[in-house]
Amino acid sequence: VSRTLFTNAIVVTCDGGMTVHRPGWLLIEGAKILDVGSGEPPRPDGVDVVDCGGDILMPGLVNTHCHIAMSVFRGLGEDMNDRLRRYVFPLEKRFVSPEMVRVGTRLGALELIEGGTTTVADMYYFETEVGRVIDECGMRGIVGQTIVDFAAPDAANVDEGFARFEECRAAFARHPRVTASLAPHAPYTTGLEILKRVAETWERTGAPVQIHLAEMDYEPGWVRERYNGTPVDLMEQAGLLREGLIAAHCIFVEERDRENMARAGVRVAHNAGSNAKAGRPIAPVVAMRKAGIKVGLGSDGPMSGNTIDLFAQFPQVAKLQKLANRDGAAIRSVDVVRMATIEGAEVLGMADRTGSLEKGKRADLIRIDTSATRFTPLYDPHATLVYATLASDVRDVVCDGEWLMRDRKVTRLDRRAVIADGRALGDEMRAEMSRIDAQAR
Ligand SMILES: [Zn+2]
Repeated sequence: VSRTLFTNAIVVTCDGGMTVHRPGWLLIEGAKILDVGSGEPPRPDGVDVVDCGGDILMPGLVNTHCHIAMSVFRGLGEDMNDRLRRYVFPLEKRFVSPEMVRVGTRLGALELIEGGTTTVADMYYFETEVGRVIDECGMRGIVGQTIVDFAAPDAANVDEGFARFEECRAAFARHPRVTASLAPHAPYTTGLEILKRVAETWERTGAPVQIHLAEMDYEPGWVRERYNGTPVDLMEQAGLLREGLIAAHCIFVEERDRENMARAGVRVAHNAGSNAKAGRPIAPVVAMRKAGIKVGLGSDGPMSGNTIDLFAQFPQVAKLQKLANRDGAAIRSVDVVRMATIEGAEVLGMADRTGSLEKGKRADLIRIDTSATRFTPLYDPHATLVYATLASDVRDVVCDGEWLMRDRKVTRLDRRAVIADGRALGDEMRAEMSRIDAQAR
């Protein structure tokens, strides 16, 4: 088994005490972290030494909510409120196929890796393809097959949606890094009966469940009219308010909802940039965490935020909470880094494996190049990560002991081919959008 020793680094561990070793070292053996610390490192025989030259070493980031394949829709129909109906739904109807999902997921995976993400939770169509790409590029992922109450691009009806999930579950049954998941889109696109069926399938299979919850301004009213209570109450009625539910957004959650979520062990994927770009209210992240709810960070899809790296989310997460609470100390940098790493891993039920640099965990880590002027001086590594670091500062990425990027060069994907395929598909989409515009005239 190969051993690699990283020395001369600022090691941001994200362990229970958010320990920083400065200078510190990290020793990995095969896919595992053997030890981490400060002071004189151990020097076992035959170890490869990587001198980090004062760079930051931290856990690979955990993106708890994404629609990776939608990278091919990024940047279209901007700054309008009906782009979903005008462009996205017609384009999805025409273009979404295993091939498109493969092209879009490779493009998004390239961006995720280059931005230091090693674990991602995804929701989309043809998730078996998404899982294959995640496997191919070496990341860790939860791949959520979308369930909706209308005809979807990969399922004519609900039964076919559940069958797609079973296909995905079979494909990754014993996979060490890819986990199949059920992704009922949202309360208003499923309804109580389908949600109950999701809960039964969860009970039977143990597959994690992801849902968009309390995201839309019309959602609480939609739920109240039909089922009485809030979107969180509806989860309870369906049998989904259980430990491990991954609920994205949770903007419209009242104090009573937050208490119920905390008691049940529901986890939240917070998407600051997506929510802000759509003009939605700011999710009560500080209040949710105070209630004891685990909150991870998500980029949401590349249409909702244009980039899917988490470094672009960091300042937005911090600043929006500070604005909402009118308090410059409402959320600390160390909390934002925590949410992007170990707390995100807890949200996805993967904290036994990833999210921190601790003895015995899988070797999921990234190195941040600190040579840009933005890093000098470097008083508080957590604050520097939140307010000054860009995705392009990520230099190396290791996941499960494998180098996914070294010196900015991605190892498992053909960068040129991935981008060429993404551009070609983009050209086809643009032509279709012109047709849609011409018809509307
Ligand atoms: Zn989403």
